[in-house]
Amino acid sequence: MINPNEEDAVTNLIECQGVGKTYWQEGDFAVPIFHDLDLSLATGEFLSIVGPSGSGKSTLLHLMAGLDQPSAGTVLWLGRCWQEWEEVERAAIRSNQLGFVYQSHHLLSELTALENVAIPLQIKGQGKKAALSLAKETLSIFDLGHRLDHFPSQLSGGERQRVAIARALVHQPQCVLADEPTGNLDEESAQVAVAQLIDGCKARGAALVMVTHNLILAQQADRMMRMAGGSLHRVE
Ligand code: ADP
Ligand code: MG
Repeated sequence: MINPNEEDAVTNLIECQGVGKTYWQEGDFAVPIFHDLDLSLATGEFLSIVGPSGSGKSTLLHLMAGLDQPSAGTVLWLGRCWQEWEEVERAAIRSNQLGFVYQSHHLLSELTALENVAIPLQIKGQGKKAALSLAKETLSIFDLGHRLDHFPSQLSGGERQRVAIARALVHQPQCVLADEPTGNLDEESAQVAVAQLIDGCKARGAALVMVTHNLILAQQADRMMRMAGGSLHRVE
């Protein structure tokens, strides 16, 4: 969908225009995942995506982050096709403007919660002291001020995921992409973690795209989409 209103187009962080993805298996065997997909993500918007396993939700998130290339169509970041950004610019966008949360926390086991959360700031070029100070402040906002020096193995599943959420937000990204962020959590921990994810994004004006199987969590979004049978449709 090409937006005829230029002003609106500029406020879109990510746009997928006629996007298709086909994987090629050995022996030139085509595996079509989805086709002709249009999607716009506005600044600060919260979008949830539901759909059966294998329908292509993770594939779509990878395309939105410019981590993979579509087989057809275009994916734009701030109005410019991902492929048109220089490699160094793409890397800078990913480390400065995007935050990622996965089903598994992906924390570094040999680092404390505090050190894990400081990493995105250090990648961005902040000195260690300033990075640790801001990481501490962020973990305190997430009610984890009493877990700063704990290693991931010394945290509960819910706490680990909340540290991962703090890490995804600490560098003030414009957009957070969360792929089944509560997939490994019990219902109560899932609610707490997602509330913090949503509030954290809102407080920073960051857009959030959350893939989830949990309909109650998905319904909290500004807009909910369903991926199935190779297409993406809005759920009212
Ligand atoms: P979802 O996140 O909705 O569960 P995925 O995006 O992970 O789905 O995968 C969609 C489909 O694409 C699945 O059938 C998966 O096996 C297939 N797939 C994913 N990555 C690859 C790949 N690199 N090569 C071939 N097939 C893939
Ligand atoms: Mg997936």
